[in-house]
Amino acid sequence: MKLKELSDQLTGKTIEERLETLATVFKGKIIFTTSFGIEDQVITHKIFTNNLDIKVITLDTGRLFPETYEVFSDTILKYKKKINVYFPDYLSVEELVTEKGPYSFFDSRENREECCKIRKVIPLSRALAGMECWISGIRASQSDNRANMSDLEYDTDKKLFKFHPLFDWTFEDVENYIKEHNIPYNALHDKGYLSIGCEPCTRAVLKGQDFRSGRWWWENDGPKECGCHLK
Ligand code: SF4
Repeated sequence: MKLKELSDQLTGKTIEERLETLATVFKGKIIFTTSFGIEDQVITHKIFTNNLDIKVITLDTGRLFPETYEVFSDTILKYKKKINVYFPDYLSVEELVTEKGPYSFFDSRENREECCKIRKVIPLSRALAGMECWISGIRASQSDNRANMSDLEYDTDKKLFKFHPLFDWTFEDVENYIKEHNIPYNALHDKGYLSIGCEPCTRAVLKGQDFRSGRWWWENDGPKECGCHLK
């Protein structure tokens, strides 16, 4: 299917209708990846409450915040649905930590990317294998890198369509939706954490600071991305 053809099928529809269309077009080959961030919780709510046939998965890097596991638990309890968990290859993690210690990512961008590759990018590739459509919680205003994307894309490297249902939403839109629908969310959001990843690599940001500036805050150059959404 061509990008234009798919885009035409989604035009004029609500987010729920778009997700439903994609679930039909890519039956059995459509996946949503959640890190339990506030945007992801909106999408999870839409998928689960509409019983959409979309596989929901998460990547457990082994370095997540306790608060992230709490929202994971609250979510499966509330919706009574399964979220498939993907762990990194244990041999690779053992080798990494044995050779370089538990905080190698602070030493260089190369080391940071190595850890993200082992704990996130490779497990994500495993989850995406055989999939034809990938749903994510990316919003345009999260970063300059993300503003250059569009809500529906074809990823030529991963060879699948990517759809970001909340692409045009503001952070306030997301917060309002979460409150209106009483959706569980990560308690860290109320403590100044906007974008939440692994515990050692995430910190709170001050009002007005860039949305992703709390991620890998010690790095001053290059995109604030783990590699999952880089082409
Ligand atoms: Fe490793 Fe930090 Fe990347 Fe998590 S965010 S995978 S701990 S470098």
